[in-house]
Amino acid sequence: MSVLELADVTYSYGDRPAVENVSMTVEPGDFLGLVGPNGSGKTTLLKLMLGLLRPDSGSVTLFGRPAHEFADGTRVGYVSQAATRKAGGMPVTVREVVTMGRYPHVGLRRFRERDTERITEALDIVGVADLADRRFSTLSGGQKQRVVIARALAADAELLALDEPTVGVDAESREAFYDLLRRLNREGLTVLLVEHDIGVVTAFATRVACINRRLFFHGDSIDFSESDALREAYGANQQLLDHHHH
Ligand code: ADP
Repeated sequence: MSVLELADVTYSYGDRPAVENVSMTVEPGDFLGLVGPNGSGKTTLLKLMLGLLRPDSGSVTLFGRPAHEFADGTRVGYVSQAATRKAGGMPVTVREVVTMGRYPHVGLRRFRERDTERITEALDIVGVADLADRRFSTLSGGQKQRVVIARALAADAELLALDEPTVGVDAESREAFYDLLRRLNREGLTVLLVEHDIGVVTAFATRVACINRRLFFHGDSIDFSESDALREAYGANQQLLDHHHH
């Protein structure tokens, strides 16, 4: 079964379509980079994929169910822009944030050894074990992203969606962050990544979807590099593209 199936999806804010007639599938194990100029509908498409927005026409199927009806939050981890950029928040520790990811598995029973192990393992995998007792709100943006991913791992998520996760993160941490995503993907996690840096996408993602309201390309990232899709999708926004290539 595909993770995601989009069939002729259109979505407008008011009367301006932000996403138009997009059809594509995401298969288990894909690392899909969503690229396109600013305002091209990347975040909107990601929200449609996760069922956070409902298409005006067409359909989105997530793990075999209409995305907007999909209720099993444990299978999907979402690192939104807001999740990591907001300052403040509740006075919870890193371990508590990650533990929350495990609650749906625990339900009304007590925590078992396996649950605690999975939480510790998740903290280890993303490299924040040493921060476990720190308050989440005191972490840097990059550290918060890792913690939010650890929460998804503790939930045994199968799909991880991230919206420009490294904005404001220094170059070295970005590289390490994308290495982590690649490692998790190779271990079987399906990854959806909205990213304005095309170099990152072609280096780390296995698949690329290039949109500018409509879908200009969807396929292997190696084929994307050799296609004209980038130029076509950026069109009048060519300056933006050059800007992104710094
Ligand atoms: P991207 O993620 O590629 O920058 P978005 O999906 O955020 O693009 O936005 C696509 C288009 O929809 C843009 O023109 C944007 O201004 C518009 N848009 C996004 N969110 C809203 C909203 N909540 N209300 C009205 N227009 C919106």
